[in-house]
Amino acid sequence: MDEADGTRIRVFLNDPAGRGDRLVEVDAPQAMDESPWAFRVEGTAPPPQLYEPDTAEFLYWQLAAALDRGKRFWARRLPGRGTWELGRVLPAVPVAGSDLNAFYDRQALRFFRAVDEKTGNVVYSGESPDVSLHEQGHAVLDAIRPDLWDAPHFEVAAFHEGFGDLAAIFAALAEPVLDADVIEATRSDPSRSNLVSRLAEELGAAVRDADGPSAALPGALRDAVNNFRYADPKTLPDSAPARELSAEPHSFCRVLTGACWDAMVAVFRATPGADRAAALSEAAETTARFCVTAAETSPSGADFFGRAARRIVREAAAQGEELATELAETFFKRRLLVSPQVPAELSPDEDPNVPEPSEDEPPPPEVVRAVEARLPPDAGRISLFADRRPPREKSEPLRVVRGRRRRDLFLHGAEYGPADGAAVEISDGFALGFGDAGFLTASRMHPAGDRDAADARAFVRHLVRSGRIADAEADPPDSVALARRGQSHAVVLEPDGVRRLRRVWIAGTGARTRREQA
Ligand SMILES: [Zn+2]
Repeated sequence: MDEADGTRIRVFLNDPAGRGDRLVEVDAPQAMDESPWAFRVEGTAPPPQLYEPDTAEFLYWQLAAALDRGKRFWARRLPGRGTWELGRVLPAVPVAGSDLNAFYDRQALRFFRAVDEKTGNVVYSGESPDVSLHEQGHAVLDAIRPDLWDAPHFEVAAFHEGFGDLAAIFAALAEPVLDADVIEATRSDPSRSNLVSRLAEELGAAVRDADGPSAALPGALRDAVNNFRYADPKTLPDSAPARELSAEPHSFCRVLTGACWDAMVAVFRATPGADRAAALSEAAETTARFCVTAAETSPSGADFFGRAARRIVREAAAQGEELATELAETFFKRRLLVSPQVPAELSPDEDPNVPEPSEDEPPPPEVVRAVEARLPPDAGRISLFADRRPPREKSEPLRVVRGRRRRDLFLHGAEYGPADGAAVEISDGFALGFGDAGFLTASRMHPAGDRDAADARAFVRHLVRSGRIADAEADPPDSVALARRGQSHAVVLEPDGVRRLRRVWIAGTGARTRREQA
C-alpha cells in the first residue's frame, strides 16, 4: 500500500453503518465531468489520500466515488443517453446545510450534515452510497422521463422514490464484493434481508434517534426485502409508522421496491451456475434492464405501478415465457397486477398515411393528427418521448414511438390550499408501432380518465394536508429554504399566464421533523 502515490482513496461501498460494510481502498475517480452522466462535486478537490471518515476530505472522495460508480452503471444501462435535465454536468453539494436528508432539485444534488441526537455521531448523508446513488437515480429518471417530475399521481411520486432505491441497489450489486457479501450473509438466499436490501442504515438510525422508533425501521431507513402489498394509495393514511404502509411516497414506494427485489430473486433462482455471487450480479443486471425499460416507457397516470409491472413482465417475456410467468406471479402476489395474465401492449391499427417519425421533436403533423383522432377530443400539447436508441434496422419488426398529450386540470376549493384555482398537468399517453415498411401498424392509447383526475385531486389534497405546498410564489422558488420547511411543491405563475403546481425538489428520506431547526 502506497499512500504517497496520490491516486488511491478509501471509501464505503454500501453504507457507513451497513452491517458488514467496511472501508475499501480504490482508485480515485477521474474524468467525472466528462459525459455521459457527468458530475462535479462542489468545492476544491483534496489530493487523493486515505482519509478518515467524517472529514471534509473523506466526504469529497466518498461522494465522488459513489456518484462515479453510478455514472458507470447508467452509462452501461442507458446507452445513447447521459445528459441531465439541467444540462451536461450535474453539481453535487456535499454539505448544503444541517438536516437528516438529501435532495435533488433540478439544479444539483444536495446533501446535508446532522448530529445523531443519541449517539453524538456526525451524520453526513453524502457519506452513504445508498443515499447518493438514490439521489442520482432521481436525476437520471428526471433526465429520461421529465414528465414524471410534476405528474400529480401518488404512484408516480412513489415510483420516483422506488427508482432511487433500486438505483442504489443495482449499483451496489454491480460490485462483485457486495454480491459475495449478500450471498454469504443470506446463505445464497437473497430473499432474506441483507446489507444491500437494507438502505441508508446510518441515516435511518439517526432519524429514529431524532424522531422516535416509529420514524424508521430498526436496521435501516428502508428495506427492499419486505411484505408490503399494493393497496390504492387514496385509501391509505397520509403518514404511518415505518412498519406500516402510507400514501407518503417514501413509504408507498416500498411496494414497488419490494416487488422488484422479488423479481430479482426470481431471476437469480433461474440463473444457473455454481458461482452464486456471479449469478446474483447477473440477475441484478437483468432486473435493472427490465426496470429501466419500465421507467422509460410506462405512461404516467394513476395506475403507474400496474403499468410498470406489466412492462417488466413484457420485457421478461423476450427472455423466456417461463421467467415472464414467474415475474407475473410475483407481481400478482403483491397485488400490483389484477391477473397474472399480461396481454400484449399494442393492438393492430394499420394506417399507411402515418409515417414513422424521426426522434426529433416536434412530431410531424400526420402523427399529431393520428394521435388526436385516437384520443378523446381535448385540447392539449402532444410531444414524443426522446428515444435515443440506435437507428432502426430494416429487419426490426416494430419500432414503438411513445409520447403524451399534456393538459391542465384545474383545482377549485379550499381543500386545495395554496393550489386553489391553480392547475396540475395530467397526461394522455400513447404508443404507436411502426412496421418495417415505415408506417403505422399498431397502437395503444392511454387516455387520462376520471380515475386519473380523481387521483390527481386526491394527491394534491394529500400534499396540502401534509403541508407540502409553499404559499409563497417566489421566482424561482428557493429549494433549500422550502426543504427546511418540508415544502416540496410550489404554485408558479407560468409564461402562458396559468398558475400551475410544480415540484421544487425530491428528497431521499421523507423524514418529517427537524425542518424548523438548522
Ligand atoms: Zn428520494
